[in-house]
Amino acid sequence: MRAIRRFTVRTVLPRELAALGELVHNLRWSWHPETLDLFADVDPDTWERVGGDPVALLGAVEAGRLQQLTRDRRFLRRLADAADDLREYMTAPRWYQNIPRAPSAIAYFSPEYGIAAALPQYSGGLGILAGDHLKTASDLGVPILAVGLLYRHGYFSQTLSPEGWQLEHYPSLDPGGLPLTLLKDADGVPARVRIGLPQDRTMHAQIWVAQVGRVPLLLLDSDVAENDNAARDITDRLYGGGTDHRLMQELLLGVGGVRAIRQYCDITGHAEPEVFHTNEGHAGFLGLERIRELTESRLSFDEALEAVRAGTVFTTHTPVPAGIDRFPADMIARQFGGDNAWPTVPVERILALGEEPVPAGQEHESGRGMFNMAVMGMRLAQRVNGVSRLHGEVSRGMFQGLWPGFDLEDVPVGSITNGVHAPTWVGRELMELAGRELPSLVDSAQGWNSVQKISDKDIWEIRGTLRARLVHAARRRLRASWVDRGASVAELGWIDDALDPDVLTIGFARRVPSYKRLTLMLKDPARLRELLLHPQRPVQIVIAGKAHPADEGGKKLIQQIVKFADAEDVRHRIVFLPDYDMNLGRLLVQGCDVWMNNPLRPLEACGTSGMKAALNGGLNLSIRDGWWDEWYDGTNGWAIPTADGVADPDRRDELEAAGLYDLIEQEVADRFYDRAADGLPRRWLEMVRHTLASLGPKVLAGRMLRDYVIDLYAPAAASAQALAADDHAAAKGFAAWKLRVTQAWPGVRVEHVEAAGLGDTPEVGATLELRATIALGELEPGDVRVQAAYGKVGLHDELVRPDFADFAIDSVSDDGRAHFTGAIPLDRTGAFGYTIRVVPAHPLMDSPAELGLIAVPEAPAGMTNGTLR
Ligand SMILES: *Cc1c(COP(=O)(O)O)cnc(C)c1O
Repeated sequence: MRAIRRFTVRTVLPRELAALGELVHNLRWSWHPETLDLFADVDPDTWERVGGDPVALLGAVEAGRLQQLTRDRRFLRRLADAADDLREYMTAPRWYQNIPRAPSAIAYFSPEYGIAAALPQYSGGLGILAGDHLKTASDLGVPILAVGLLYRHGYFSQTLSPEGWQLEHYPSLDPGGLPLTLLKDADGVPARVRIGLPQDRTMHAQIWVAQVGRVPLLLLDSDVAENDNAARDITDRLYGGGTDHRLMQELLLGVGGVRAIRQYCDITGHAEPEVFHTNEGHAGFLGLERIRELTESRLSFDEALEAVRAGTVFTTHTPVPAGIDRFPADMIARQFGGDNAWPTVPVERILALGEEPVPAGQEHESGRGMFNMAVMGMRLAQRVNGVSRLHGEVSRGMFQGLWPGFDLEDVPVGSITNGVHAPTWVGRELMELAGRELPSLVDSAQGWNSVQKISDKDIWEIRGTLRARLVHAARRRLRASWVDRGASVAELGWIDDALDPDVLTIGFARRVPSYKRLTLMLKDPARLRELLLHPQRPVQIVIAGKAHPADEGGKKLIQQIVKFADAEDVRHRIVFLPDYDMNLGRLLVQGCDVWMNNPLRPLEACGTSGMKAALNGGLNLSIRDGWWDEWYDGTNGWAIPTADGVADPDRRDELEAAGLYDLIEQEVADRFYDRAADGLPRRWLEMVRHTLASLGPKVLAGRMLRDYVIDLYAPAAASAQALAADDHAAAKGFAAWKLRVTQAWPGVRVEHVEAAGLGDTPEVGATLELRATIALGELEPGDVRVQAAYGKVGLHDELVRPDFADFAIDSVSDDGRAHFTGAIPLDRTGAFGYTIRVVPAHPLMDSPAELGLIAVPEAPAGMTNGTLR
């Protein structure tokens, strides 16, 4: 018989052990080994059995054992120390507390969070990044208040069928069995979020609080009695349902998330956020909710829009156009219009925010009628960033249409390269060694030159320990997987010797969308076999990854890998381990000597698993994409040559796979097995050391978080404060100014440009004086910024990454024409050119492209293609 309902009965801890409850309910344990040691000592066997999940431990441990612990003086002392340490961690001033004028709180929205394997609310890199963001914010004292959804079945866990086909399981999670607390008001009544739906329906949600160190994470949960069955299922699975389901989830996350924050701040007295950061577009409706709040307190839509934009940061995460989140526009119209409309937020304005720009001549093509969450994200956020330098560049191209007339470099999308949270991902032995030798590993991004002080022998020993740990865990997992697939234990003797703790170990683990090319290594199976079975210099490969449940193509790729790895001649050298999650990820990035990544460039926005490997002394072997494009320096790993530009995908795969095999054989294995008399691979360790020293400080999430605080959060808070001051006086003024400038812009023209000081043979070092006549129509000189763009010109007279010089107003003639003057330095030899541009100017703008308005000479007036000497 099956139970109709399942819940977890919590242990009542003896009074002497009350602090254990406190420790369990703060997820800081997930990156604090001393606390984990303490949990393990509560009952080592049970700890092992529950897979290191402290809530499960407290549920499973015998009452007698707890009584015993109440009399264990040593345990009680350690418990008191751990509790003290946590309290100190929660309150002591940290890095952020020294930042002047920093925002009092920052709201962070994400559809998924990878905090710990015991809280399976993530599917991949986006969620892991969000988890690392929160943990690092906590370590640095950054006052983030995070919001997400609590999925009752989380993301699926993966096993394999006998044929190697991915099977999905959705274990039912009971919040009572997770380290969560229900948000209740002072009278003990659970807080509720309510959102109106069309046809008089309402969606209700309760709010769970997960405490991630200092950072509260609010998780909305629609599984409550007031909801009809459909609404109860809104938060059933991560990335589970169809379009309608996804819209409901995103409404709950965005609109519901803001409402949850308001309640949380009301109940607990937590500071209200000054900045709202959305991790990818899924939470974009949060901007609409904030506009609604402001329009209900007397601002117009346009005024509220300015106030909201100023304090919003939007991070885009995908350069794959199919990865962009879109809805049919009529679905959005139904949700935010008709009987469900918000009186102060017209549905047409909402629709306009998500409308995709249509290139001229393509008015009837695809894209019409779709509401694009990323496009809305960019319109609702004054500050937008991608997640690596290359991804920033690709994103500027993808979204250029939103700023017509501007060059790629002017598109206001920047980048902050992702990072990873060292205490979560770095092997304990290495953390301890580093803690002694390199205090900066933990809390500073200073140079890591002291890595030179660590001896080759110490590094190699730790690498060996981590590799052996992976090999042993992999055998256990492999055996369990074969048993799942129907094998009898008697047939599995070979697994005792599967993988070898002394063989060069390559890791490849990631989600399985097609651009990540799980099976590139199989392109030439004979060549792969040779590498695996090389008599002197063999390699072994450990693979993991989940395909999205609806992605049949991805499951086929997994099956191909599994079939290859099932073959008797290679199965001891290549294994697929099911159920890639944070625990398996940690084993892999710590134990592998080489971390392989072969995406189709430039479709990997950043990638973070390779960073985790680097921090553990693993070497990256990767296509130059995402972060590796930026920080590969020629000697800190290897770059698989990309055949970027070869149009035939099969041919491209062939070329890149051949490059991969060559590198493994000629460079990677060669170095790894080149041993000195004392058995140490000196040339290998030299690269490991260089990896740690050159990448260590960069790939840390601490560096990333500092960048977010300094470059985005603090400026966004300053803008938001400026606009909100004096009853939103500046927001009103700015909105009115924008409207006036936008309406008058068709009257702005560059009429004439003249140059003085340019002889027949311009020479480098000279200055060129320019005078531009601009028709301003209804505008004042102060409404615009006139600039010369100058520098190197390309073959078609285009300016290549020009510099800009601001012009000053000289005079206004009676006919309303304004004359501006300025000068440009002829600062380089060769083909040189310039032009003039006029853009709107206002102190509250963050980028000249912000309004999408620009005027340039009709014919390229003043374009001079002289060659300077
Ligand atoms: C780090 C990590 C990821 C993201 O890594 P990518 O390099 O972006 O693929 C995904 N899943 C897990 C479990 C991870 O630990």
